[in-house]
Amino acid sequence: MQLIMESSKPHVAIISSPGMGHVIPCLELAKCLVSYHDVEVSFFVPSTEASVQQTQLLESLVVPEDLHIIKLPPVDISNIVPINNEIVARLTLIVQESLPDVRSEILKSPRPPTVLISDMFSTHAFEIADDFKMAKYLFCTFSATVLAYMMYTPKLAQETNIDSQEIPESLNVPGCKPVLVQDLGGRDRLFHLNGGKVQSVFGHIYNYAKASAILVNTFEDLEPQTLQGLSDDNVRWTIPMPPLYPVGPIIKSAESPSIGKSDYYLAWLDNQPSGSVLFISFGSGGTLSADQTNELALGLELSKQRFLWVVRPPQDFTPAAYISAVGGVNDPSEYLPDGFLTRTSGIGLVIPNWVSQIDVLNHGSIGAFLSHCGWNSILESLVNGVPLLTWPLYAEQHWNAMMLTQDFGVAVQLAKASEEGVVGRERIERAVRLVMEEEEGKVLRNRAKELKSSAIKTMGKDGSSYGSLSKLVKKWNEISC
Ligand code: UDP
Repeated sequence: MQLIMESSKPHVAIISSPGMGHVIPCLELAKCLVSYHDVEVSFFVPSTEASVQQTQLLESLVVPEDLHIIKLPPVDISNIVPINNEIVARLTLIVQESLPDVRSEILKSPRPPTVLISDMFSTHAFEIADDFKMAKYLFCTFSATVLAYMMYTPKLAQETNIDSQEIPESLNVPGCKPVLVQDLGGRDRLFHLNGGKVQSVFGHIYNYAKASAILVNTFEDLEPQTLQGLSDDNVRWTIPMPPLYPVGPIIKSAESPSIGKSDYYLAWLDNQPSGSVLFISFGSGGTLSADQTNELALGLELSKQRFLWVVRPPQDFTPAAYISAVGGVNDPSEYLPDGFLTRTSGIGLVIPNWVSQIDVLNHGSIGAFLSHCGWNSILESLVNGVPLLTWPLYAEQHWNAMMLTQDFGVAVQLAKASEEGVVGRERIERAVRLVMEEEEGKVLRNRAKELKSSAIKTMGKDGSSYGSLSKLVKKWNEISC
């Protein structure tokens, strides 16, 4: 008679909101739990309209035995919110509409999960956790600083009338340095005022307070004061603050199979001198205006530095071309300055749409990263010891950019939240040269290398982030016994 031993390891469900900036860290958390902490994970991922990269990522995965990838069927939200509605409301709805499928998958499971981890915009899945008596956890894919600010906004909303212009000039979020509202891009951005964002973001923030704990994609040496402030019992938040577990940096590893992996740009990088190339990318979907794209190109050319630039058609180029460019035709010669590609062909490489960013940042020829300052991009840069030039576009990227320059000391500010208009080519040229050629660049690079070694240490067996995850897994083991 064959004896079948039932597994006693914890079974965790992770629910990501759609989009690469969410799916990548959630998937990496899943892989980390399965590979290093002996946890079984069911990873639920909703589909999006623009899911070419997401689909490729999931298809290219080599999935370990205890990781179950559950791609949820596409949902139609076109009758509920218009296509141009703001992104958080759309992500929230996609997740909400996908919840019946999550529910039926859990019901089918021979060994249902006992723990549910939601990311920042899939917290409506907590209702499933309640129904199935699962423990609820949040995975904060932003920094601890942005989490602190989010947990502070209900208080701020109570103390100020957000419908009037009564906004403080500076914010004093517990654990964070005072910050000028104008440096965050003004009151609309502060309160997410356009298109009903207040409602959708606030709904999530109140759900954060219901989590048993929050896993944060950061590490102690990176945000020590903020992590302390967030955990300080003397600080009075308007909503309950769950215990925090810094578990990061959770990022894709360079050797994992990557979408868009292609020898041609990596081979090009192989032929460039060490630390000589500026990498330019605005995240999974960021774009600039046509005028700004033009100035950036001319600024790069003036700087005479080597570069690898991932480009998408400008926002105001032709919307149809932009939409199709997510997976289709994107011909940079149509919108980059005349002759730019020929003039820079010896020293620059322009890649339409997408590269495997982690493989690029991990390449020895990269000297700096001009980034939109998405949190995943920042962590990926730091883990590879690459200093940055900051060009925040939207969401929490302005906070991130400030942290990079003022707190971490690894970046030069290029574009600012408070300014209107186009950043000129001369300013771009100066900033690029500063980081790539001058003494200040060396200082930034050394600081980035220090953070790189802290980041590597913290994820090692004796490191604090590894320890945080181990503590959590111990709790989950107790639940599943
Ligand atoms: N990414 C990539 N190639 C690209 C653009 C983005 O691999 O050409 C990855 C990047 O490595 C990161 C994620 O997509 O893991 C983007 O997340 P981030 O938080 O930086 O920005 P978002 O796209 O969410 O604004």
